Amino acid sequence: MKVIDHIRQSKETLVSFEILPPLKGKTINSIYEHLDPLMELKPSFINVTYHRSEHVFKKKADGTFDKVEVRKRPGTVGICAAIMNHYHVDAVPHLICGGFTKRETEDALIDLNFIGVDNVLVLRGDAAKNESVFEPEPDGHRHAIDLLKQVVNLNNGIYLEEDIRDGFRTKFSIGIAGYPEKHFEAPNMNTDLAYLKAKVDAGAEYIITQMFFDNKKFFEYVEKCRANGIDVPIIPGLKPIASKRQLSVLPRAFYVDIPNELSVEIMKCKTDADVELVGAEWLLQQSRELKAANVPVLHYYTLSKPRIIYDVVRQLL
Ligand code: FAD
Repeated sequence: MKVIDHIRQSKETLVSFEILPPLKGKTINSIYEHLDPLMELKPSFINVTYHRSEHVFKKKADGTFDKVEVRKRPGTVGICAAIMNHYHVDAVPHLICGGFTKRETEDALIDLNFIGVDNVLVLRGDAAKNESVFEPEPDGHRHAIDLLKQVVNLNNGIYLEEDIRDGFRTKFSIGIAGYPEKHFEAPNMNTDLAYLKAKVDAGAEYIITQMFFDNKKFFEYVEKCRANGIDVPIIPGLKPIASKRQLSVLPRAFYVDIPNELSVEIMKCKTDADVELVGAEWLLQQSRELKAANVPVLHYYTLSKPRIIYDVVRQLL
C-alpha cells in the first residue's frame, strides 16, 4: 500500500521506522534481529536507506595502490522484498541520484515494481566521500527533482527507450526530503523551499524531514511550507541522542542544532548509558508534543538503537 494512502486512511498519528542495510558480509538475520522487537509497535511502513559506493585505495604487494570501488551496504532492494515477505509491512526504498545512471535507475524501478514495492523516497544523495561537491554520473541526475520526474514518467508508462510503446505504468507513491533547519547547500530557506515546492508540483506526495531536536523548528518549517503553497503531508524525522560524541557528530554530519537545554543535560552525564536515558526522555517529549499536534506520522531513524525507540513508542501508544 502507498504511504500516502496510509496517511489518508488514518485518523491517528502513525509510526514508521528507517533502517540501514547491514554492512556487506552480514546476513538478513541482522535486519530481522533489529526489526523483530519494533514490529510489535505496528509501523505502517519501513524505509530502507540507500548507500552509494565509494572509492578506496588498496595497497598492492609492490607498494603501489589500486583504486577500488566498494559498496559497504548493498541490498536495499532485497531487504525491501524480505521485509514485505517476512512482516507483511510496506517497505519504502530510498532512491538516490548519486552513483546511478538513468538506465540503472530505470532497471532498479522495474525490479522494485516486480517485487511489489509501491513507494520510493527520492533523494539526491550526498557527495561521494572523495568529492567535495556532489557530482552526478555522466548519464545520471543532478537533483532529486530530475530523478523524481523519471519516476513520474515511469508511472505514466514513459520509459527511456522510446520504442517501448504502451509500457506498463508503475504506481510508485513518491516521497521527498525536507530540512527544517535548511539544506546545508541552500543559500537561504526561501530558495530551499522554492525547490521543495517544485518537487511537490512535479509529483511528490509527502515530505519526510531531516532529524531535528527542537520541535519549534519543525512547526515553523511546516508554517513556512504552507505559506509557500506546499500542502502535502510533512512527516517529522526523529532520532534519539545516545552518546556524548553525537553532540558534535550530529551537527557536523546533518547540519542540525542541539538545543542548549539538551546539550547541558547530556554534558552532565557520566556514561553513555546515562546519555541514553536523557536522549530517550527528550525523544519521548518531542514525540508527545508532535503527536498532540496531529502530525501524520512519527518517523524514527532507528539505526543502532532500536531499544530506545521501542521504549519511547511503547509509552506513546
Ligand atoms: P535536492 O532536492 O537535489 O536538493 C539538494 C540541494 O540543491 C538543496 O540545497 C536544494 O535547495 C538545491 N536544489 C534542489 N533542486 C535544485 C535545482 N533544480 N537547481 C538548483 N538547486 C536545487 N542520502 C543517501 O545517500 N541515502 C539515503 O538513503 C538518504 N536518506 C535520506 C532520508 C531523509 C528523510 C533525508 C532528509 C535525507 C536523506 N539522505 C540520504 C540525505 C540526502 O541525500 C542529502 O541531504 C542530499 O544532500 C540532498 O538530498 P535532496 O533529495 O534534498 O536533494
